[in-house]
Parts: sequence; structure tokens; C-alpha cells
Amino acid sequence: MPHDTPLIATIVGGIGLAFILGTIASRLRIPPLVGYLIAGVLVGPHTPGFVADQSLAPELAEMGVILLMFGVGLHFSLKDLLSVRAIAVPGAVVQIAIATVMGSALASILGWTMAAGFVFGLALSTASTVVLLRALQERRMIDTEKGRIAVGWLIVEDLAMVLALVLLPALATMLNAADGAPGVSSDASLWGVLSITLLKVVAFVAFMLIVGRRVIPWVLHYVAHTGSRELFRLAVFAIALGVAFGAAKLFGVSLALGAFFAGMILSESELSHRAAEETLPLRDAFAVLFFVSVGMMFDPMSLFNEPWPLLATLLIIVIGKSVGAFFIVLTFGYPISTALAISASLAQIGEFSFILAELGVGLDLLPEQGRDLILAGAIMSILLNPVAFALIGWLRPRLEKNVFLSSMAGDKSISPAHPAAPELNLQDENHITEKTGHTLLIGYGRVGSLVGDSLRSGDFPYVVIEDGEKTVFALRDLGIETIAGNAAKPDILRAANVAEARRVIVAIPNAFEAGQIVQQAKAANPSVDVVARAHSDAEVQYLTDLGADSVIMGEREIARAIIERLTTSEAEISAINEAAETDGASTAAEVERPDDVYEQLDDKQVGREAGAA
Ligand code: AMP
Repeated sequence: MPHDTPLIATIVGGIGLAFILGTIASRLRIPPLVGYLIAGVLVGPHTPGFVADQSLAPELAEMGVILLMFGVGLHFSLKDLLSVRAIAVPGAVVQIAIATVMGSALASILGWTMAAGFVFGLALSTASTVVLLRALQERRMIDTEKGRIAVGWLIVEDLAMVLALVLLPALATMLNAADGAPGVSSDASLWGVLSITLLKVVAFVAFMLIVGRRVIPWVLHYVAHTGSRELFRLAVFAIALGVAFGAAKLFGVSLALGAFFAGMILSESELSHRAAEETLPLRDAFAVLFFVSVGMMFDPMSLFNEPWPLLATLLIIVIGKSVGAFFIVLTFGYPISTALAISASLAQIGEFSFILAELGVGLDLLPEQGRDLILAGAIMSILLNPVAFALIGWLRPRLEKNVFLSSMAGDKSISPAHPAAPELNLQDENHITEKTGHTLLIGYGRVGSLVGDSLRSGDFPYVVIEDGEKTVFALRDLGIETIAGNAAKPDILRAANVAEARRVIVAIPNAFEAGQIVQQAKAANPSVDVVARAHSDAEVQYLTDLGADSVIMGEREIARAIIERLTTSEAEISAINEAAETDGASTAAEVERPDDVYEQLDDKQVGREAGAA
């Protein structure tokens, strides 16, 4: 029976192709995001072959934005948000002004109206939430000062765009009138719309703080007590999507902002960590669909149709906005490294720019050429964003040598208001270890930290590889040589000099990653002694097959320790009984022996030993 299933076809086509091209991109050592965008171009209407549904893809992408912002909210407390307001608010406002002026200038060169220039410039001023968050997440910057400033800045931009979207129709009348088009300027209606919008935003925030803050944690608490994981997951999703949608419908706030607040409210309850993890897999899948849907809108021919205006647009987005942001951050006394990171994070445009451009065209404010330039500029700037981040590493030492810039950043950055930020891009800080004949300890969590203690007290030379940012900071503070990053990546293992290590201890829970590490360690150094951690017989087999010399299964060791503890108790009980008997007092009966427990345990032990044999 033939089915017409555009939603399924779009999801399968988009995710499937994004997966294939993302993997190819990763093999070619370019960011997977480039693969996702190209996948979008391929399933889009401008290239031959399969064409995904053009109205569904952006909606699916919007789900990605909701879940991403919800996740960011979970990492953010109100305190964090308020702590960066001093820089985020003026920073975002000034940057929006700079971009708008530059966009207007280009528009006037292209012969557009003033109103067109205003909308065009505004559209160039807002960074894409998804691109920014992905960049921060990949570089583990979300929880750092730079990350907080960037997210705070984004929230302000987001709010400004919400205002712009609702004000634009009212402004259209005025701007068109100013440009000589028929229409009555109506200041009163503009102020009316502005105050109603602001009131709605305030009402939403107040509602979330007063009602949401109580109801949401209560609901999750209640659901957690039912013991059903499925229901808990469902509750998290229902809250994230429900609040975002409700915020958009009832209060006119953007979906992204609504989701951010839902997450932020949750971050105040102890369940937030679990809630965050529940949203991870779907969040990643939808974020990929975001890039696919952006790629779908792109017509590769537009690159050749109007190359010079496009180049100018791109320069405004990538260079103009960045230089602006760089100086704004420096003016606030933050270090050059922070200024560079913020500039790179914001050197792109995305979803809000598309929406604004669409609205501008719809209101007859912006010519269609403007929308095409915004779209092509967005794609190109998203593609160039990883390059912008790569440039930071190159630029930073050079800029820090500049006396003028250092003096701008210098003295204020050590004031108590801005304590010198810890170095954020941890992986940039990695250097190749000089140790040889050392032990390589991978993962410093519940297992690795205990092993690390013993290595330290035994005075064995060792190097840690750890993925978690906070742990890396703590270890480096303790003076323990630590390489930050995922040990499954070849360059991370190389930095730890696995080729000349004596032993590798893989103390991480994920068997697939552990397998990668074991395989690469053995390939680089066949004589290295590899000890790995597993959680099931299948994992033990998998890791052994890949070359691990010994694999310790966590659960078996726990059982062994429990059995040992019980047999010790039994021995103690017998000793007490014997002592009592020799004393002649009949206290034996008072010490109850839980025979059935021992019998069951004995059976299990026999069973396991038989199984092992
Ligand atoms: P636990 O399960 O408590 O022993 O924690 C495992 C630790 O290993 C955590 O601190 C993780 O950050 C870390 N970890 C997990 N996977 C990797 C990886 N692929 N590379 C480096 N560290 C990892």
C-alpha cells in the first residue's frame, strides 16, 4: 500500500544523509556540521534528486532550538544570568547597533531604502543560537565565564529580536512613510505595541518565577517517585516543549526563550542533572536537523549571481561584528582571550535572521535580494565559524603582545569584579607529555580517582586523560599532569605519549569508547599493558578481543566484595559463638544466623563459578 509520509521521509532523508556526510567530513578532519549543511543542500529543492518537505524541516529544526535552549537553561541559574548582565546587555545592544549601521551602509550602496537597510542590518546582527551553543559545547565552554557571557549576550539579542519581530509591522508603516511611501506615521501604535510586548515578557518571566518555580520541580519530583523512567523522560520533554510553546502562544515570547526559562527553573532543583541527560539524545538529533534545514534553503547558484554584495555581507557578519564585539569586551576589562572567544562565537547569523528577513520581505520593507544575501551570508558564516575559532589560537599570542590592547584588557581584568577567568579552551592548553615509561590513567571519575590516589601514594609516574572540564581544572590545580579531551581521539592519546607508556588504565564507563582506546593504544605500542573497565560479560569479551590484557568487570567486583563482607561476618559470628560456648554461657542463640541468605548466596556463587569454568 503506497504511503505518503513526508514527515518520515524528511526525518529519515535528513538524518540519514547528515550522518553519512557528517562522518565523511569528520574523516576529512573538517567539522561534521559542514557535512550536515551539505546534506541539507542535497535534500533541498535547489539540487536534483530527493527533495525533503520544505515546510516540515524548519519546524523540526525549531524543536532542536527548543531542546538546545532548554539544555542551556539547565546549566544556568538566575544568578549566572544576572552576573553577566553588566557586559551582556550593553555588549549586545552596541553590537546590534554596529551591525545595523554597517548593514544600512551596504544597503544604501546597493540603492535600497532606509527601511530595507534597517531590517537588513538588524538581521545581520543576531547570532544563531544553535551554532553558538554547538560551538561552546564542543569546546566545553558553556560552564565557563566566556560561555556565560556569550549565552547572556545571546539571550539579550534574543529578547531584542522578539521585540523587533513584533515591532516591525508597526514600524513598517512609519518607515515606509519616512521613505515617501504612502502610510500614516503612528507613534501611538508603536508605543502601544512596544509596551504590550514588554509587558508580556515581564508577565512570562514573573509567571515562571512564581508559578513555574514551584510547579515544575513538584511535577518532576512526583514523577520521579513513580519510579518509571519512561514517565520521567516524558515529563521532562512535556515541560520543555510545553513551556516553550505556551510562552510563544500566550506571551509572544520566542520558543527559544521559553525553553531557556523552563530549563533555568529546573536547574534550581536537584533533579536537573537527570533531566538534562534525558534530553541529550533527542536534542542532538534535532540540532542536526537544524543544520539540514538551513542547508535546504540554500541555492548554490546564489554564490555566483551576486558575488560582491555577498562578500560584503559576509565581511560584516564575520569581521565587522567580531571586531565590534572584541573591542566591547575589552572595554569592559576582560582579557584578550575572552574577547576573542566572544567575537568568534558571535561571528555568524542564523535562524532569527531568516525569520526577520522573511517578515521584512512580507511587509515590503526588504527587497528579495536582501533575503537571498542574508541566507547565503548565514550559510557561509556558519561554515566559516570553526575557522574563526581556529584563528583565535593563532591571533591570541600576537594580540597579547600588543601593548595598547593589553593595557585595555590588563588592569581591569584583575579587578575583583572580573577575576582572571580560568583558561577555557582546555584542549588548546594540552601539551605533549615528556613522560616515558609512565602509566596512562584514562577517566578520573569514581573509578579512576581511586586508582589515581593509589598511583600517587605509590609514587608511580602517571598522566591522566579526562573529558570533564571541572575535573581537569581540579586535577591541574593539584599539579597532576592532565590532558583534556576524549581519549578516543588519536591526537589526545598521542599527547599522552601512549607509544612510550608502560601501562594504560581505561577507567571510563563507555565500552565503545574504551574499545577505541584499547585498539589505538595497542596499535601504537603493542607491548603496553592495558587494563580496562567493563560492566557486562559481552563488554569483557569485546575489550579482550580488541587487545586488552585484563578487563575488570565492575559488577563482578562489587558482588565479590559483598560476598567477602558476608563471609567475614559469618566468620565473626562463629568466633563470637565459639567464644560464648567456651565461656559456658549459651548466648549462641542470641546471634541470629540468616541461614537462608547464606544459602542463596552460596548457590549464586557456585553458579557463577560454574559459569566461569
Ligand atoms: P566514573 O564513571 O564515575 O568512573 O567516571 C568516568 C570519568 O571518565 C568521568 O570523569 C568522565 O568525564 C571520564 N570520561 C568518560 N569518557 C571519557 C573519554 N572518552 N575520555 C576521557 N575521559 C572520559
